[in-house]
Amino acid sequence: MSAQIIDGKALARQLRIGFRQRVEQLKARGVAPGLAVILVGDNPASRVYVGNKIKACEECGVRSLHLGLAADVSQAEVLRTIEQLNQDDSIHGILIQLPLPPHIQLARVLEAISVHKDVDGFHLYNVGALVSGNSIFPPCTPYGVQLLLDTTGIDVAGKNAVVVGASNIVGKPMGLMLLQREATVTICHAKTRDLAQHTILADILIVAAGKPGLIVPQMVKEGAIVIDVGINRLPDGRIVGDVCFEAVKEKASWITPVPGGVGPMTVTMLIENTLRSAERAFKTAGEAAFQAWEAPTVKSP
Ligand code: NAP
Repeated sequence: MSAQIIDGKALARQLRIGFRQRVEQLKARGVAPGLAVILVGDNPASRVYVGNKIKACEECGVRSLHLGLAADVSQAEVLRTIEQLNQDDSIHGILIQLPLPPHIQLARVLEAISVHKDVDGFHLYNVGALVSGNSIFPPCTPYGVQLLLDTTGIDVAGKNAVVVGASNIVGKPMGLMLLQREATVTICHAKTRDLAQHTILADILIVAAGKPGLIVPQMVKEGAIVIDVGINRLPDGRIVGDVCFEAVKEKASWITPVPGGVGPMTVTMLIENTLRSAERAFKTAGEAAFQAWEAPTVKSP
């Protein structure tokens, strides 16, 4: 039987409706949530990603500040820009679009962002929080995947979850989040021997390798939930994931499409983290009557 499709676009749309209400609540209390997006250089893909983030802010009523810095900007100047934003009370989230030019140290820049405004969740403090079982600002892509999994109504606890890809921004935090939810987690990477030997055991298979066609049906357990994080542009211009969608959907129980699966959720969770930051800042400023923040919940069928 063909898998049920996990519709990331529809879920993102539904969540964004709720976000608009939260923005209105904040504005009624004199807080206009603001996100600053720093783009260094002129990478065309990065420009598209930044454009999508700014569009999502507009859609939800979040104020966005786009700071474009020249490709040869000094690291000191980037750090100064971040420090100004750290001090700016009208900014609740700061993100720096990756990748950065090679003369800028990524670790140095990520650690300069205030942990209270680190809406991408890449600061060492937030990474450490994830390791120790907290989630201050969960990294956006794995956070989006978690909500997509929730839509299936299937409890992750006790399941074999296999993550293909071990990057700091997707694979590793994804593994930690699944572990927090008591899955038995395997993280595979480019040096994993016989990838299929691991993926075939997965009740939940999450693929984030950036390799089109990597996952074929023979590597997938009958009835598995398959989440495809990959985004690859083929020479003919088509965008595909890492999973052979048409063939694998005949074996999986649930599957995400590309596009329309994880992608829309990543940007949506960025807005979620920005709103959470604004709500926290407001509460810290001291209005006890403000409705407590609740993590978004997703209805299963
Ligand atoms: P990345 O930093 O390049 O990491 C790729 C990971 O995959 C690495 O850990 C690498 O292993 C592993 N890998 C590569 N080839 C493999 C293979 N043949 N078998 C097993 N593992 C393999 O990429 P990323 O930033 O995590 O992104 C991964 C993909 O997700 C990309 O297509 C990216 O465009 C996409 N993405 C999508 C979203 C979204 O919103 N949908 C967000 C972020 C990323 P090593 O560590 O050993 O090199």
